[in-house]
Amino acid sequence: MYLGLAVSAQLNDSDWLTARFSPRLPSPIPAAYNLPFLIRGPVKRIKAVYPGSFDPPTNGHLDLIERGSKIFDELVVAILRNLEKDPLFSVAERRNMLEAMTSGFDNVSVETFDGLTVEYAITVGASVVLRGIRAISDYEYELQMALMNRKLQPSLETVFMMPAEQYSYLSSRLVREVAQLGGNIDCLVPELVAQKVREKMDPALKFANVEQAEGKSPERKASKRKTRSRKKRS
Ligand code: ADP
Repeated sequence: MYLGLAVSAQLNDSDWLTARFSPRLPSPIPAAYNLPFLIRGPVKRIKAVYPGSFDPPTNGHLDLIERGSKIFDELVVAILRNLEKDPLFSVAERRNMLEAMTSGFDNVSVETFDGLTVEYAITVGASVVLRGIRAISDYEYELQMALMNRKLQPSLETVFMMPAEQYSYLSSRLVREVAQLGGNIDCLVPELVAQKVREKMDPALKFANVEQAEGKSPERKASKRKTRSRKKRS
């Protein structure tokens, strides 16, 4: 009703007469009064922050990012910098992996932060904190944190999402442990992460991969050695 009054107050009598009774006009409302826009008002975009340590990022994280990207206009995957734990990957390494994993999502970005999640979320203009719940065991801790965050910043809402069933047992800690004991982590993390984890566990692998990329494979080295010794002999 208020909207109707506002519109009619801005139209003079002759506008209305022409608009309502002239059959030549396609629309009874002049274009200047864009009614759909006035009715809807400014579009509200929902930005969410998905905080975590992501050490390393797993298929479970990726599943949640995909789900989040479908319901939020923008999703910021935020890597916590000030960890007390001794991390497997540096923040820069985790950021590189997450950026590669999320390059296919237009509305997902990767950032790093320290301090309180709620303060970071407000600073970037987010209204939602996204968290994952895998099992009842997650619930108690996540609930406590969500309620504390609400206390600290009542305007922020925590949204919990559940991953696909096959990821409900998956955690970064488990991936680290399986890899440390020599287990196969291929179906737990994206291929690029599996490669990086393997290199962490066995640094020699990293040099082997770099050498291979530079064309310094063991076979090439052997053939170079042979050529050198042939040259010496001749
Ligand atoms: P944190 O140290 O904050 O728990 P994590 O990287 O372990 O950081 O997890 C970040 C968020 O992602 C948490 O909300 C966690 O519950 C969620 N998460 C971790 N692994 C999974 C998974 N397999 N499925 C769904 N959510 C997950």
